[in-house]
This record gives sequence, structure tokens and C-alpha cells, in this order.
Amino acid sequence: MSPAPALLDFDRAMALFDPALGLEVHVELNTRSKMFCGCSTEFGAEPNSQTCPVCLGLPGSLPVLNRRAVESAIRIGLALNCSIASQCRFARKNYFYPDMPKDFQTSQYDEPICHDGRVTVEVEGRQIVIEIERAHMEEDAGKLVHVGGSTGRIQGADHSLLDYNRAGVPLVEIVTKPILGAGAQAPQVARAYVAYLRDLLRALGVSDVRMEQGSLRCDANVSLMPRGATELGTRTETKNVNSLRSIERALRYEIRRQAGLLVAGGRVKQETRHWHEDSGTTSPGRSKEQAEDYRYFPEPDLAPVAPDPEWVERLRLELPEAPPQRAAWLRAEWGFTEAEMRDVTGGGALDLVVRTVAAGAAPAAARKWWTTELARWANSAGVELEAVPMTAEQVAEVQALIDQGVINDRLARRVFEAVLAGQGDPAAVVRDLGLAVLSDGSALRQAVQRAIADQPEVAQRIRQGKVQAVGALIGQVMRDLRGRGDAAAIRQLILDELTSGQEAG
Ligand code: ZN
Ligand code: MN
Repeated sequence: MSPAPALLDFDRAMALFDPALGLEVHVELNTRSKMFCGCSTEFGAEPNSQTCPVCLGLPGSLPVLNRRAVESAIRIGLALNCSIASQCRFARKNYFYPDMPKDFQTSQYDEPICHDGRVTVEVEGRQIVIEIERAHMEEDAGKLVHVGGSTGRIQGADHSLLDYNRAGVPLVEIVTKPILGAGAQAPQVARAYVAYLRDLLRALGVSDVRMEQGSLRCDANVSLMPRGATELGTRTETKNVNSLRSIERALRYEIRRQAGLLVAGGRVKQETRHWHEDSGTTSPGRSKEQAEDYRYFPEPDLAPVAPDPEWVERLRLELPEAPPQRAAWLRAEWGFTEAEMRDVTGGGALDLVVRTVAAGAAPAAARKWWTTELARWANSAGVELEAVPMTAEQVAEVQALIDQGVINDRLARRVFEAVLAGQGDPAAVVRDLGLAVLSDGSALRQAVQRAIADQPEVAQRIRQGKVQAVGALIGQVMRDLRGRGDAAAIRQLILDELTSGQEAG
């Protein structure tokens, strides 16, 4: 086998090709019981403790549809501006996989419950319409646990165990039409779309939308076509990318890889690929089946679903506000500029800021910490802002300490570091590490007098009216006090020291 051609530089790839995206998002619904049986859906239970003949696919068992799951699917469809089918059916999608004991997945095929929707996402101020082809109901599969080997993956494992607790958990799969014209922003568009879905699904209350736990999973399809061409190229599908950041990274990688292949005269193979978070690369999975390979046929054990139109209309009326509308009124209430609000929503900080404000912080302060200090921390740790080990309440507590004059902004940064390192709540950290601003006037005054004595020529310039020279002395006092001084108070003290003497003389 010849070595794979080198990746092409992203900008060069974008000069030669237009990417087309297709995103398939699986959402695990948070119903209490499974799609077709009464088993619990609780996450993290003892393996195989939440199973029954139906979700184990035992002979003679019959499925019964979960009405709550249908309701959630309809609400998702309505929120995505889809049409809701007046009648639809389930289908069997036939294939073998050890985590699927029936040898078929109960899904929907040519009659999805929701179809033809659209949403608008924003990337760097540009509005991009994403057409939704369908949102259909299906059941989740069980889970394989690979034992032995270092990575938990099948490669290198000694054996595998099966946990069927997840088999039969209700899913809604949301599939876009090809997304064209995003150009070099394609990876960001994909990320913005999944972030939009996450916020929307959370607002609907239909799912935990925890990407790291797999309750929101994204398969990212991408293909390239030469610039100006109209026929789509061959796509690859990168499976189960489990964070927003990884979606963007995986697509950038896949675009560069495909462009490298095409430029070297090779061809892209239609296949699924696996994303490797650590190396930032994808590797081939199975060659991708065509729909007809699954031998879909209508599920004979379930009656067609015909949602009552009055029910659908009632669900439509009860929909919560869409995330962009919510962001618009929050922006007005908080008095943020559009750019400030973009920082907040683009960085995934909206709900965190809402919670920090609810915990008592001023909106501007809440925004500042989540979009600077904590965003930097999340970025360097390679995690989503949501996963930062600091709560909204703790952030509000830091700000309260600042407002009370116990610490200043500089010290706050050290408090953040310590809280993020797991050293306790802000007030405890301030106490334990002795980070409070010196309120003791005599210690401050002594530090000021030392600085004046150390830099007599600076002091002299200030006495002669060159007040701007005071910065050098403030700097020394701050160093002396290890940042625990309040700059404004120190400045005032220095000026008092140097000018009171003049008035007296
Ligand atoms: Zn069951
Ligand atoms: Mn699916």
C-alpha cells in the first residue's frame, strides 16, 4: 500500500475546493422509560439491569410505542420549523451488530415523523440557513465495552462485554440537507449548528444534551467539489464526534485530508471514519453502505403513528422561545453591544452568564469572566466552557468579593486559578491563601513609605508636580504586597504622603 498523500494546507484546500456538509445528529430523549418497553433509561446503572424481553429482542415479545417519545419528537420537529407528518410508520433497518440483539434497528425510513425544516445559524456575523431534511424516531443500540488494551477501543482489547441498558432508549435523528456555500467557514458552521441544536433541545427540555455522555452525538459528512462545480463529490462520514470543538477540528482535518488526496490525483473513498481526539486525526472505519443495503421494510409489530392535529397545534403553541429570540431580549436587558453578545453566544457562555447573573453578579462582570479568564482556561484544557470545574455561583462569589473590596481584579485571577485547581470555594481560597486586599492601613502606609524611600528621585518628580510618575511607585508597592493592594488607594496614599509635606512646608 502506498503511503497516504500529505494533508493539504486548509487555506489552499479552500482556494481549490468547495466543501459540502451533511450533519446527522442523534439526540437521546430524556423520557423515563424506553421507546418500546417500560425499562428505565437511567444513565450509569449496573450493566444489563435495565432490560426486558422487548429490548433484548427475545422471540414473541411485542413493542409498545412510548407516547412521550412521540411528543418530544414532534416538539423537536416544530422547533426546527419542520412539517409534521399526519401519518408515519416505523421501519426495520436490518444489519448485524453485537450491541443490537434483534439484528435490526426499529427506525423510520421513507415516512419520518418530521420533515422539511430549516434553521438559521450565525457565524462571525454571517447568517447561514440550514435546511433540515428530516427528524425521525428510532431506538438506540446497546453498548460494547472493550476490555484490555490501553485505550478502551476495540484495537488491542482482549475481549468485549455487552451492556444492553441503552438498547431501546428513544432517539431522534436530525438530518440536514447538503449544506453548500459555507466555504472556509464550513467547520465553524457545523459547530454553530450543533451548538444551536444543543441550546434548542435544552430549551425544549427533551434531552440532557450531554455530548460527553453521548446523549447528543454528531456524525459529520463532508465532501469536496472543485470550485465552481455543481456535482457533489464523494463524502466521508466521521462518526460520533463528541464535543463541539471536535466537530470543527474533525471537519478541518477531513477537508485537508480529502484535498490532499484529490490534489495528488487520488480518489476519496466513501466510508465512515473515526475521530481521534488525542492525535487530531481520522481513520477509516467501514465502507459506507447505501440505504438499500439495509433492506428497510415496514415494521409489522407497530401500528402507524397518526398524531392528532389538535395535539400538534397545542404543542406548537406551547413551544418555548427559540434561542436567538431569547438571546436578543437578554442582550437588551443586559445592555450588551452586539459584539459582546456574540462573544457570549459564540463561546457557549449564554446559559452560564444567565446563571451567574441569577447568582447575583452584574451582567458585565459575568460576561467578562466567562469570556476571558474562564474561556482561556477551557481553551487551554481543551474542554467546553460548560465543563470548566467552576460553577456560576462560584463566579458570582468571586465578583461579590471584588465588589466588597476584599480582593481586586488581579487577585481575582489568582482566586480563579485556585478554584479551578480544586482548592475550594472563592471565600475559602481567599482566606487559606491570604489573598485579601490589605485593608490594614498601617501595612499599606509602611509599604508606600518604603517605596518612596527606595526611589527618592521619582518621589521628587512627583513633588514637583509630575503626577504621572506615580505609576512607578504604585508598581513597587504592589510587588511589595504581592498584588494584595488596591491601586487607587495606594495612589492616593502616595500622593498624600508626598504633597501633605509640601503643604506643611
Ligand atoms: Zn425493556
Ligand atoms: Mn440513526
